[in-house]
Amino acid sequence: MFVEQVIGWIFGACLGACLGSFSNVIAIRWHAESTVFGRSACPSCKRQIKARHLVPIFSWLYLRGHCSNCGKKIHVQYPLVELAGLLLGLIAAIRHEPFSMYTGPQFWFELIFSTALLAPLVMDIRWKVLPVEYLGGLSIIAAIINVIGFGVVTGFGFQTRLASVILGMAFAGLFFAFQVLASRGNWLGIGDIWLGVYMGAVLGWPLLPISIYLAYLIGGSVAIGGLLLGSLHRGDRLPFAPALVSGMFAAMWIGPLLYDWILTAWT
Ligand SMILES: [Zn+2]
Repeated sequence: MFVEQVIGWIFGACLGACLGSFSNVIAIRWHAESTVFGRSACPSCKRQIKARHLVPIFSWLYLRGHCSNCGKKIHVQYPLVELAGLLLGLIAAIRHEPFSMYTGPQFWFELIFSTALLAPLVMDIRWKVLPVEYLGGLSIIAAIINVIGFGVVTGFGFQTRLASVILGMAFAGLFFAFQVLASRGNWLGIGDIWLGVYMGAVLGWPLLPISIYLAYLIGGSVAIGGLLLGSLHRGDRLPFAPALVSGMFAAMWIGPLLYDWILTAWT
């Protein structure tokens, strides 16, 4: 039914926007090393934010991007991350029906483990750090759900799923660890290894190598574009997480198609 489908899409979008809003809180408070729980306050006047001003995206539009108490500008990170969450939730709902018995679990898996990357993304872009314990903990949860059969790695037997997840995590970990060693931590850091392991846990094999390939393709195109347009300069250090995260999303959305295409083209 079309109406049920649209309700599913709205549900996914709203949930995604809320998870985006929560990601803003995680990023800011993880960086400030304060608790993730408790009411949000304005960073400049410290006044608690009213509940009706906490609605993702709409509140920012309604307040025209300024605090209702002191009038200070609200960082553009807040609405952008909420919007990104909304889009991720909407895409997850379009790809899998949230209320279906068969594709429901995949919807929740995709929604949670894609929006979970918004906080690390913000931290890498703003402060060039990645939350290692956060990524490590979520990797274990993603790996377990995948092995049980409710994640991205589906349609195979238990042992195949287990092998797929272990291979994905190990390959990503070693691949990035090698680059950290080779560049002596100048190009990639320890956090990138954990981001790689997370991607391996979420995608498994063979989507993991496809995601790395896509990440380099996307990152490389942005770097070349930036150099040509003059907004980047030789030797500029770019945050690597946005490329990796884009690669993971791309692999999740078009990876299976790409994989089938490679197989048929080669055989
Ligand atoms: Zn304020």
